[in-house]
Amino acid sequence: MIVARTLAELRAARAAVSGTVGLVPTMGALHDGHRTLLDHARADNDAVVATIFVNPAQFGPNEDFSAYPRTVEADLATFERAGVDIAFTPLTAEVYPPGFQTTVEVEHVSQGLEGGRRPGHFKGVATVVAKLFNMAQPTTAYFGQKDAQQVVVIRRMAADLNFPTDIAVIPTQREADGLALSSRNRYLTPAECAAAPVIYRALTAAGEMYAAGERHPDALRATMQAVLASEPLGRVDYVSLADPVTLRELDTPTDAPMLASLTVQIGQPRLLDNALFPLHLNTRAGLTQTLGKT
Ligand code: AMP
Repeated sequence: MIVARTLAELRAARAAVSGTVGLVPTMGALHDGHRTLLDHARADNDAVVATIFVNPAQFGPNEDFSAYPRTVEADLATFERAGVDIAFTPLTAEVYPPGFQTTVEVEHVSQGLEGGRRPGHFKGVATVVAKLFNMAQPTTAYFGQKDAQQVVVIRRMAADLNFPTDIAVIPTQREADGLALSSRNRYLTPAECAAAPVIYRALTAAGEMYAAGERHPDALRATMQAVLASEPLGRVDYVSLADPVTLRELDTPTDAPMLASLTVQIGQPRLLDNALFPLHLNTRAGLTQTLGKT
């Protein structure tokens, strides 16, 4: 595995590989969710480029940029085991050199959900992903369902700016109890860890209601709220049922697929999770067909 720390090193390594290239962008602190993205990229492509970059542009002033976990040596070992060909771990000044002043803003789909709580977050994400696409020139880039709005924003950006890169959407990897894997789960105390699977239970309860025929977004939202309310350690931020392409909140019954998203603060971290209804769409093929499809 080549470890490129500068853009010049990345470009040289990229120029030396031929065939299809899979790109897996990460902020490090890797877990098995990232590992699944790497495995898909490895299985699909002739070469795999994986990046570790904690992108300051996507953190708000009161967010955890400086406290974000950094475990680069262990992460590089994970990349190596996963068969990554090129690891890119740039310094901030390499990505945002002095004088940098160009950004990418995907207008409507960046506004609700996480974008509503984290102003500027998706501008930071879209900008760095556009740059990584230009730097690594991937055939396919791999993103996790866990950050569903990010998938929608990036697919819109890739289509709108004519990037010749396919976006693969990989289902959320979970603990056995249903808790979605996240770099921030390490901040949960044992009691909070025991409480956190309530998020998945809320999603599955509403998904089962959907399977039984319920189509009213208010009824499905109420079920998720009721399950979440049963857990005193959780403070609900939002419960959303939205169109999986426009991310507009649904207020009338529909047979079209729905994206259910929840954010709950448990202890220090805000935990995010989501599912498509019907639940059978939560596969790579179903997600790629549905979530942010352009
Ligand atoms: P991050 O390092 O948090 O920026 O995540 C890098 C990529 O891994 C993003 O595309 C995430 O959506 C994805 N990811 C994070 N957690 C999971 C998970 N539990 N399952 C699948 N993908 C994930």
